[in-house]
Amino acid sequence: MAIGPALVLDAEGVRIPQKRVLPSQVEAEVTRLHTALAASAFEATQSQREITQRLGAKFGAIFGAHALIFEDPAFLSDLDVLVRKERFVAEYAVSRAVRELVEAFEKEGENSFLAWRSGDLYDIEKRILKHLIGERRDPLRDVHEPSIVLARDLTPSETASLDRNSILAFATEHGGRTSHTAIMANAMELPAVVGVGHFLADVTSGDIVIVDGAEGIVIVGPDANVLAQYRKTRDARLSRSGHWVVERNLPSVTLDSVPITLLGNIEFPDEATACTARGAGGVGLYRTEFLYVGRDSDPSEEEHFRAYLRVISEMGEGRPIVIRTLDFGADKFVEAHRPKEPEKNPSLGVRSIRLCLRDTPLFCKQLRAILRASAFGDVRIMFPMISTLPELRKCLFLLKEVMEDLRESGIAFKPNLPIGTMIEVPSAAIMAAELAREVDFFSIGTNDLVQYTLAADRTNELVADLYSPADPAVLRLIKSVVDAAGKHGTGVNVCGEMSGDPLFTPLLVGMGLRQLSLAPNNLPPVKAVIRRLTVADAERIAAEAMTLDSARDVINYLLRERKRIHPEAVGGGEE
Ligand code: PEP
Ligand code: MG
Repeated sequence: MAIGPALVLDAEGVRIPQKRVLPSQVEAEVTRLHTALAASAFEATQSQREITQRLGAKFGAIFGAHALIFEDPAFLSDLDVLVRKERFVAEYAVSRAVRELVEAFEKEGENSFLAWRSGDLYDIEKRILKHLIGERRDPLRDVHEPSIVLARDLTPSETASLDRNSILAFATEHGGRTSHTAIMANAMELPAVVGVGHFLADVTSGDIVIVDGAEGIVIVGPDANVLAQYRKTRDARLSRSGHWVVERNLPSVTLDSVPITLLGNIEFPDEATACTARGAGGVGLYRTEFLYVGRDSDPSEEEHFRAYLRVISEMGEGRPIVIRTLDFGADKFVEAHRPKEPEKNPSLGVRSIRLCLRDTPLFCKQLRAILRASAFGDVRIMFPMISTLPELRKCLFLLKEVMEDLRESGIAFKPNLPIGTMIEVPSAAIMAAELAREVDFFSIGTNDLVQYTLAADRTNELVADLYSPADPAVLRLIKSVVDAAGKHGTGVNVCGEMSGDPLFTPLLVGMGLRQLSLAPNNLPPVKAVIRRLTVADAERIAAEAMTLDSARDVINYLLRERKRIHPEAVGGGEE
C-alpha cells in the first residue's frame, strides 16, 4: 500500500506537474498558452481537411469539432482564470480545464448537444500539450519527488522504467491483474491497482491518493479519518512483513515434512537478488523477452549470454535456472518484432514460439546463448506457448541443430540440460500425456491458460469477472496435467500468478504439485501457508474444491480454509 501525492499522466504519458508562475510571468504564460491554442486550432482544421479527403466529411467533422473547442468562450475563460488568477503554468491549466470538461460532459450524458467523448477531449489536451512541451516522451524518467502515478494505461516497459526511489505506486484505468504491467509491478514490489475503470477525470496532480494493491482499492482525496485508518493498516502490514523476514530462512516444508520447492519468477537479471534474499530454491521462470524492452536494437548473442551468466552467478551452485525462450506478443511486443500487418487477434496470432519458429535466426541466436550458459550452471531451457506436439518437436529439432553447431565449433555446453515446455494453451493441457514423453518438465502458465480456457483477455478489465484461475474448468485442466506428468515421471510446476497467491497454495499442493514458481515478493506468504499445512489437509481441500461448480464457490471455500490455516494473515491487526 502507498499513500502520497498523485502524478496524473494523460493518454500519452505526458507529465503534468502542478506548478505556478510568478506574478511577473503571468502575461508571458498567457501568450504561450494562446500561441499553443492557435497552433492547435490550425492543426485540427488541417486534419479536418485531410481526413475529409481521405475518409469523408463525416470523419473530418470530428476534427472540425476539435478545432471549435480551441475558440470556445467557456473553455477559454476557464483557462484564463487558471492562468491569470491562480497563476498555474499553461500545461497544468490545460490539463485541469480538460478534466473539468470531461466531468461536466459526462454529467450531461451521451445525449448532450455537444456529445463529446472523453477520448476526444484527451486528444485535444494532447494536441495543446504537444505545442506547449514539444513531442517529449518518456515523462516518467525525471520524477524526483515521491509520487503515485495515475494513468489510463502503462505498458510493461513504461512500468519497468519507473524509478522505485520516487514512484510509490501506480494505478491505471485499463489492464488486468495478470497483464504484464501488473506482473512487472509485482516484480518491482511496487503497489499497484490496474483496471480501475474510469477515474482520471476526478483527480488532478497533487491530490492525495491511497493505492491499496492488496485489496485493489484506489482512494482519491481521502478525509482525515480514512487517511488515519489506512496509515494504520499500512503500518500493520509493514510490521507483519517483519514476520516474513523471520521465516525467510526456514525450510519450505509442510507440517508433515514434505518439501515444496519454491522458485522465483524474474524478468531482469537483477531480480535474481530478490530471489536469493527470499530463499528461493532457484529461478523457475526467467522471462527473457524483457531483455528486448526499452532499446532500439536487438541484443546480440553475447548480451543474451552475459545476462544469463549474471543470473547464474547470483543464484550460485545447485540452484536451477529455467530460461524461457522469447515470448513476444500480445502486450509484450517490441517494435522490431511487431507483425508487418496488424493482427485482428494478437493473442491468437503469431506470438511467442510461433514467432520464434518463423524467425529462426532470432530463435537460434538465443538457443546458442542459453546452451553456452549451460556450461556454467544448472541451466534449463523452456519453450512458451506450445500448442501442438509438432510445434514442440520443431523446437527440439532446432535445439539439436544448434547443439551440433556448437559441438563442431568446440564450444562448451551441457548436452543433457533439462528441457521443458510451458503448458498454457488448453490444447497442450489436453495433450499433456503425449507432450510429457518429449520433455523433462512442464510449467503450467495459468495466466495464459485461464485466458485461453475461458476466452477472456487477461488484460481486459471488462471480462475480469470471467478471468479466474479458480474456475472449475481451469482446475480440471491443471489436475489432468499434474496427473499426466506424474504418470510419465515428468517434472511439473505452476508458474502463473496463481502460484504466488497464498489462497491457492493448499489447493495446488493438494492437487499434487511439489514445486511452485512465483514472483519473489510472494515467496514469504506462500511459504508461511506451506509450513502450516499437512499434505493430507491439502488433499482434502483440493478434493472438496474440485466438487464445486463455480469460481466464486471455490474462492469462498478457499478463503474459509485460509482463515483456518493461517488466521493471523487474514485481516489480523487491521481492525
Ligand atoms: C503464464 O502465462 O502463466 C506465464 C507464466 O507466462 P506469461 O505471464 O509471461 O505469459
Ligand atoms: Mg504465458
